[in-house]
This record gives sequence, C-alpha cells and structure tokens, in this order.
Amino acid sequence: MAEKFYITTPLYYVNDIPHLGHIFEVIGIDVLARFRRMQGYKVFFMTGTDEHGLKNQKEAERRGVSPQEFVDQMSEMFKSIWQQAEISYDYFIRTTEPRHVKAVIKFFNAVRDNGDIYKGFYEGWYCTPCETFWSESQLTDGNVCPECKRPITRHREEAYFFKLSKYQNWLMEHIKSNADFIKPSFRANEMINSFIKPGLNDLCISRTTVKWGIPVPGDNQHVIYVWFDALINYVSGIGYADDEEQFKEFWPADCHVVGKDILKFHTAIWPAMLKAAGLEPPRQVFGHGFVTIKEEKMSKSKGNIIDPREYFNTYGTDALRYFLLREISYAMDGVFSEEKFKQRYNADLANDLGNLLNRTMAMIRKYNQGRIIRKGDGLSASEQEIIASFGALFQSYETRMPEFEYNVILAQTWDVINLLNKYINDKQPWLLAKDSSRRNELETVLYTVAEGLRSLGSLLYPFMPATAERIWQQLGIEQNIPEVAWSEHRRWGWLPDGTQLREPSPLFPRIE
Ligand SMILES: [Zn+2]
Repeated sequence: MAEKFYITTPLYYVNDIPHLGHIFEVIGIDVLARFRRMQGYKVFFMTGTDEHGLKNQKEAERRGVSPQEFVDQMSEMFKSIWQQAEISYDYFIRTTEPRHVKAVIKFFNAVRDNGDIYKGFYEGWYCTPCETFWSESQLTDGNVCPECKRPITRHREEAYFFKLSKYQNWLMEHIKSNADFIKPSFRANEMINSFIKPGLNDLCISRTTVKWGIPVPGDNQHVIYVWFDALINYVSGIGYADDEEQFKEFWPADCHVVGKDILKFHTAIWPAMLKAAGLEPPRQVFGHGFVTIKEEKMSKSKGNIIDPREYFNTYGTDALRYFLLREISYAMDGVFSEEKFKQRYNADLANDLGNLLNRTMAMIRKYNQGRIIRKGDGLSASEQEIIASFGALFQSYETRMPEFEYNVILAQTWDVINLLNKYINDKQPWLLAKDSSRRNELETVLYTVAEGLRSLGSLLYPFMPATAERIWQQLGIEQNIPEVAWSEHRRWGWLPDGTQLREPSPLFPRIE
C-alpha cells in the first residue's frame, strides 16, 4: 500500500485578497505535494480559509453585507486564484463549514473533559484590529500594538482559558527529542529560547465581544477565539468529527507549512491542544521566510502589495512560480523586484530552457524528419557526463525537495540545462549532418538532447506543471507526466525510439 503524505497550508484569513507572499507560500507547498505524488505517495494536500473573527465581521459591515455573504465571496476569490496558480490541493476547508464547526465542538469538549479548559477573567492591553491581547513586556513602542502600530485599550472580560502552561515540559521534551519536528532546525532553537523557556502562559480561548464565530458548547455568551477555532482545521478537514476512516488514515499530518511569524501557534499551542484532546502532534512544522519588497514585509497596511494575478496574466503562471522559488530561498527571506523578474524570465526561461527546446526540435525535424531515433551504442565521454549529471540531479531532488531547498535544486537544474546547450555547441550537429559517415554520431547527439529535455520535463513538473507538460507534448510523448512512475522518470533512455515530434511552439516568448 502506498505511504500517505498529508501536507497543509495555513488557513488564509479572508479580510483581503491573496498577495505575492501568499502565492510564494502556497506554491512552495504545491511543489512538494506534486513531487510526493510523482514518487507514488498517497497525498492529501489541504488548504483553505479562516472565516470567523472580528476583522471579517467588521469588513462585512463596512461592505454592507452579512458576514456569511462576505466570507463566501472571499473564499471563492481564494479558490479562483489558487486555480490560476495551479495549486493541486485535494481539499479546500472553510471554517464556516458544518463539518468544521462540528469538529471544533468535539475538540473543545475533548480538551475540557481532559480538565484543560477553565473559566476566568482576562484583563490586558487589547488591539481590536488584531484581536490580540498584549502583555506589558511586549509593548516596546508605548501604548500601541506591536504588530500593527495602532492604539491599544485596556480591556477585561470573562473568558475560557486553555491550560497551555501544563504542557511546557512535555513540549520542551518533544521538540528536543524530535529533530525533524521543527524545520529548518535553527527555528527550533528560536522557539525554545524565545517562547517556551521564558514560560508558557495559559491561553485565553474565548471572546464575549465577538459575535461572528463558533459559540462555546453550553455557553452561548462566549465565542471560541478565532485562532483556536482555525487550528482545528487540520483535523476537521480530514474527518475528525465525520469520517473516522479518513482521519485514521491521514492523521498525524506529515507537514504543516507556515510563515515563521505563526510558528509558535503551530509548534507549541497546536501540539499542546492536540495532546490535551488525546491526539498525536503533527510530524513536522516547516517555517518559511518572507517575500519582501525593498526590505519590507508585504502587508496591506504598508500599501506595498503586488497583485500576483497581473503577473499570471501577463507572463503566465509558471514564470512567476519559477521566479519566486528560484530567486528566493524558501526557508529565508528574499526580495522581489520586477526588474529581476524580467531578467530571469528572459535569461533562464526564454533563452536557456526555451531555446534548448526550440533548437532541438528544429534539428530533429531537419535531420531526422521529426523522428527521435535511439541508438544503443557509441556513447562518448560527453554523453556519459550528461547522463551522470542527470543521475546526480535526480538524487539531489530526492534529498532536497523534502527540505524545501528549491532555489538550490533549480540552480542545479539550470547547470544541467546549460550543459546541454554547451553540448550542442561543442558537437555542432549541423556539421555532423553534412558527413554521412557520421550519421550515428548525429543521431546520438539528437537523442541525448531529446532525452535530456524529457528528463527536464520530469524534473520541472512540480515547479512548472504546464510548461513541463508542453515539453513532453512537443516531444511527442503520449503520457501525462504524473501518470509515469518515478522510477521511470529517473531512468535515462526512457524516451522510446521512433517517437514522432509534434508541432513546436515557444515556451516563453521574450519580453522587452
Ligand atoms: Zn494590532
């Protein structure tokens, strides 16, 4: 039976449309999901929208619609952009879905039955837009919210609390004894030193000031805090409350990918909640970096948001998918610039990859009547080098993909693309074609670059699915890429003798 692989995005808060930072995050997750499917895993890839809470309630009021109408519109917007971005999710969970609401109630009751929820009073400095209480020590800029810089107010309310403090030692032990639990590893040290060691406080998990949310079971005056509600999506979406079989199959999650700013919710609060509910923690939480523009994190309040749809429409989805993951290290931060984007588009995509396909197609048409001819013998040192380079590249994919080292993988892939371009320049097939005694050599060169392109299609598929399929189609391959077993993708010489090319068309027309 195939091994399962359950991977998630964080839930997206729907008070605004997705920006480039969201796209960077979600395509990085899509790449690993696609790769695991190619390797034969039974993948469950989940994403979705976080739809409760005060900000949505207020935004709906501002627009003069009901909260439900507002979140319906916004989640459709996320779905349509995910579709344009080619996000291959298996399920899109919404926190307003009945199955999620049912799961939150079941989860809350399980934690309460375990003695880990109690009623008390919460008093503190509160930021209404962020729905966050801040402690004195966090207020470094005076009486403004450390996150959004807006004024905060003193606030006291009756509330339910989760006994997070009870899980401090367990959590510390769990992180220390599971090296793969928090990735990249340096983030585990950050978590321990900045959050867990200073001491975990019990967490306020309900509000009386908010109406748009799931009421506390048996106490309708209180609505469950939006974070507590949203985290439960990771189990609700795989059937925690309504599909025991699916739940048993996929829990625990193999990887929650989140922005580094919400790592504490996923590596401390969420595992403690699960432990309290009698469930296993996720196997891994990966904290990725941010896309910045001129060294500033993108945010609505700063007005520096780039709409990814403009790039998709102008340059194609794959160009942006490629650029973000090639230019920016997924684990660290990186800077987006339009100039850099155009540079890489022309150099990497139009020239290096696009021309390699074009010239190969043109030569096979001219010298072989569009047929790929495979000769089993007579490989020179330069063909051996190419075969060895692909072997090393496949191996690198297998070890680096699960570590999200996408920029390294893509740089290595372009080294091999350039090796193929150099190989053509060195072998000069146009001269070989003039000498009938060197016919075998010519066919070997043409087969080597065609099989190189076929292999590149296999390797680029997780990053640029449509482009990879177009490469295969132009080469005349009948199968779709995901239908082929990973061991076959890996095998040099897979492209059959006699394959007939189809119509050429440029992958990435140059831009000015
Ligand atoms: Zn704030």
